Amino acid sequence: MSSLVLARRHPDDSARRWQQELSNLITDPKELLQLLGLNPDDVSIPADVLRAFPLKVPRPFVARMRPGDARDPLLLQVLPSAQESDDTPGYGFDPLAEADFNPQPGILHKYQGRVLVLAAPHCAVHCRYCFRRHFPYEDNVPGRQVWEQSLQWLATQPQINEVIYSGGDPLAASDKHLAWLTNRISEIPHIGRLRIHTRTPVLVPSRVDDKLIAWLGDSRLQTVMVIHCNHANEIDADVIAAMHRLRDAGVTLLNQSVLLKGVNDSAQALAALSEALFAAGVLPYYLHALDKVQGVAHFDVNEDRARELIMELKQQLPGYLVPRLVREIPGEASKTGLL
Ligand SMILES: *Cc1c(COP(=O)(O)O)cnc(C)c1O
Ligand code: SF4
Repeated sequence: MSSLVLARRHPDDSARRWQQELSNLITDPKELLQLLGLNPDDVSIPADVLRAFPLKVPRPFVARMRPGDARDPLLLQVLPSAQESDDTPGYGFDPLAEADFNPQPGILHKYQGRVLVLAAPHCAVHCRYCFRRHFPYEDNVPGRQVWEQSLQWLATQPQINEVIYSGGDPLAASDKHLAWLTNRISEIPHIGRLRIHTRTPVLVPSRVDDKLIAWLGDSRLQTVMVIHCNHANEIDADVIAAMHRLRDAGVTLLNQSVLLKGVNDSAQALAALSEALFAAGVLPYYLHALDKVQGVAHFDVNEDRARELIMELKQQLPGYLVPRLVREIPGEASKTGLL
């Protein structure tokens, strides 16, 4: 009986697995700590911190955390902390002044030749260091109506040759929507490249399934995916398999990390990350200095230390495994190098 049921699995089952993972997130800090064999009573998280930016983490990512280690580098990225209510001078609410680059809902035009399209308002995770934790997503909820306007606008901008799906996390959107949008973009002759900035394949590798590969691999556009991975422990066999599928579909894979105190602020951690990325077929691209948004100051690594770390990496690794150390400065037409 049961083998009969298995044999009759609906062809869409794999497509729905990631959606199940995204609807079965851990949102209760107690549950997260207990799963890791940690005592919830040892950790105090103020209610206002949780309310302002709730805990949200997919289970496949939690499975890569080390049980019993309260300083686990993956746990620290997602566990709310009392330090988030610190009011730190020099830290704002829209540190990149993104509100100024919002020519119309759903579009951010900050860089020459490329444009960011907000493909999904939410993420599969809440990273505690997130620079968009205060972004007015309600005013930028993407959908076909907004995308139609974006497409009309794009068609009138011949200097733009690259569209970047951003968010939130674009791969939190359904393949149906993304396939539609990608197809429409590929009908605009001056667009040659599609880039996707996403953390979802690292969090939930089952996101890279047949349906995603179908619209991404078949597009006439050249495709680039920038995964946002901060630590070597984030890369397990499932992530490697997902990266291989993307590569086989012709996707160029790059990584962007954020330099985070307690998570990856040692030459050893950064070198291990570069090596693990390369083994998965991903090249390190950017190492980002933290964007100074209220609630994240406890993750900050100062710029001198950041430069030192890159110098150490340069001694240990071939040049192509050393990421570019950058900071985003509002109003600048590109990221600013810090070396
Ligand atoms: C920096 C950045 C870009 C632009 O990157 P370039 O490679 O400098 O063109 C796009 N999206 C996100 C999320 C970024 O952080
Ligand atoms: S995946 Fe990126 S945008 Fe989403 S919460 Fe994390 S840092 Fe923020």
